[in-house]
Amino acid sequence: MQFVDLAAQQALIREDLDRRIKRVLDHGQYIMGPEVAELEETLAEYVGVPHAISCSSGTDALILPLLARGIGPGDAVFTTPFTFMATAEVISLLGATPIFVDIEPDTFNIDPTQLQAAIQAVREGDASFYPVPQKILDQGLTPKAVIAVDLFGLPADYERIEPLCQAEGLMLIEDAAQSFGGAIGERRVGSFGDAAATSFFPAKPFGGYGDGGMVFTADAELAEVMRSLRVHGQGADRYDNVRIGLNARLDTLQAAVLLAKWSLFADEVALRQENAGRYTALIKEQLPQVVTPTLPARYVSGWAQYTLRFVQGRDQRKAALDAIGVPSAIYYPIPLSLQAAYAGLGYRPGSLPDAERIAEQVLSLPFGPYIQEVDQQQVIAALA
Ligand SMILES: *Cc1c(COP(=O)(O)O)cnc(C)c1O
Repeated sequence: MQFVDLAAQQALIREDLDRRIKRVLDHGQYIMGPEVAELEETLAEYVGVPHAISCSSGTDALILPLLARGIGPGDAVFTTPFTFMATAEVISLLGATPIFVDIEPDTFNIDPTQLQAAIQAVREGDASFYPVPQKILDQGLTPKAVIAVDLFGLPADYERIEPLCQAEGLMLIEDAAQSFGGAIGERRVGSFGDAAATSFFPAKPFGGYGDGGMVFTADAELAEVMRSLRVHGQGADRYDNVRIGLNARLDTLQAAVLLAKWSLFADEVALRQENAGRYTALIKEQLPQVVTPTLPARYVSGWAQYTLRFVQGRDQRKAALDAIGVPSAIYYPIPLSLQAAYAGLGYRPGSLPDAERIAEQVLSLPFGPYIQEVDQQQVIAALA
């Protein structure tokens, strides 16, 4: 059994993949070829926003909107500590400071009530509103943005976070690297906040065969600046540079691969819902003491991961699965606030108690649109 089965998908589209790759080899427009524009139009329409800007990774998709708004030294950007390093890394790379806000223990996503308190703590320089390390508060940072993450595929609580960011005058970025295909009611993932970033890393819900990403926005001005930043701050033409930018383009070959995979995507989103539902039913039957994923009403998860919570004994369960060759994974074992790279911020064990506790309880099971029912039964029987 594999943790994610990428081969089953390829078998379904191999001919179309070969044809599309050959077409790129024939036309030879390896940089910003027609497939790049076609993919951007296709995904913008799916998400329901006017602008989609493809780029070289999910990480660059997070950098572009921050860079476009000039976020840098002296600025505070609020985010969750329970995420992949890239979410906070982009803030630090630009010289701004990440302020970690604890999560809701049931959804694993940033808690809007604590977010509000953390913004106030930074504005007032007063840790009695929220336990931000004094070392950070002493810098007198200006709150500028929030990056909310849709962890494991479940959209964050945008119904509360969007109005909060509007009232506070903060830019909101949706980190949708794990949630493409998800929704809240009629609004698809990728349409929340001022800009949303997704990733095409192979194991993500809409993954390619290499690195890639996309930013979505309804803001035409922001879109134009991000398109320029993607190509070295280009102005009217290639040798007119109007700002400091990056080389952050998506390869034409990668866009061709993604277009071949697109024909399966809607079915795969449906299969992920079905397979997640099957795990939950099996667990409720055989392992009633284990906490299954929360799915608030009207929320559709992109189900990047199917993640359980063991209030006790997570590590023994994982060891037992390892011993019989059933793959599983811990996302994420260490909250970013306690990573060595962030030791300088002044966070301590106990600063963000929910994220720290949940990091010791979670276990992600083998999952994907093509996981077999017998494999799911075997995983749950092994755990039980
Ligand atoms: C994967 C991931 C990223 C980064 O995407 P890359 O394409 O690997 O750069 C950012 N945020 C989250 C939450 C991710 O899971």
